[in-house]
Amino acid sequence: MSIRRGLLIILSSPSGAGKSTLSKRLLAWDPDIRFSVSATTRAPRAGEVHGREYYFHSREDFDDLVARDQMLEHATVFGNSYGSPRGPVEQAIDGGTDLLFDIDWQGGQQIRTSALGKHVLSIFILPPSMIELERRLISRDQDSAEVIASRMAQSLDEISHWPEYDYVLVNEDLEATEEKLRTIICAERLRLSQQPGIVELVRGLNTEFGDRT
Ligand code: GDP
Ligand code: ADP
Repeated sequence: MSIRRGLLIILSSPSGAGKSTLSKRLLAWDPDIRFSVSATTRAPRAGEVHGREYYFHSREDFDDLVARDQMLEHATVFGNSYGSPRGPVEQAIDGGTDLLFDIDWQGGQQIRTSALGKHVLSIFILPPSMIELERRLISRDQDSAEVIASRMAQSLDEISHWPEYDYVLVNEDLEATEEKLRTIICAERLRLSQQPGIVELVRGLNTEFGDRT
């Protein structure tokens, strides 16, 4: 057991607000943060790799994973199924590695209210405006006009869940938002409840001092 426990860091936002971009930056910043690769029935986008962005599954395979209780949480988002594999979670918590979840409010709620809820650090990312949200979805150049319109239509529903999160950030300037995320993560790692190994360390300090006297 490492000194600190790993956090389950949940990032949610309406589509296009910047979760994936911020996630990639956090992963590049600190190797002690691993990405929770979700399973999905959505088709891969250009450049997406099975096992990196997502595990891409058929409907049958996805349902089988759920039936075998392999999913920590799962939900239907934009007409497709998405779920977070249970496998890496316990190892991350006990090993002092943070696991980063890019998931919607339904998944966030399921993990937060589960037995693992005490390990959750949840952050909601807001866009600075709806015009900018749409601009980002268009500029990403990954989805059809129809898909973008449907994501915009559902964005207010996702946004309505912001009060359920520990922190909320407005992603206006990317660098500034990343900096704030780092600050939150650094502070949350240092909570007493996150550092069970401190008890042992303090015991050692006492012994060390006792040995000298
Ligand atoms: P993007 O977020 O617009 O790039 O689109 P995606 O198709 O990658 O994701 C659609 C939505 O599904 C986003 O809100 C994701 O956060 C969410 N999502 C991704 N993986 C999971 C998961 O494992 N569980 C849940 N509940 N939501 C997920
Ligand atoms: P999400 O994962 O939330 O759907 P993305 O991370 O894919 O969103 O971001 C959507 C688009 O917006 C991408 O093209 C990304 O480069 C861009 N983007 C993200 N954050 C910002 C920002 N702060 N300012 C301008 N563009 C941004």
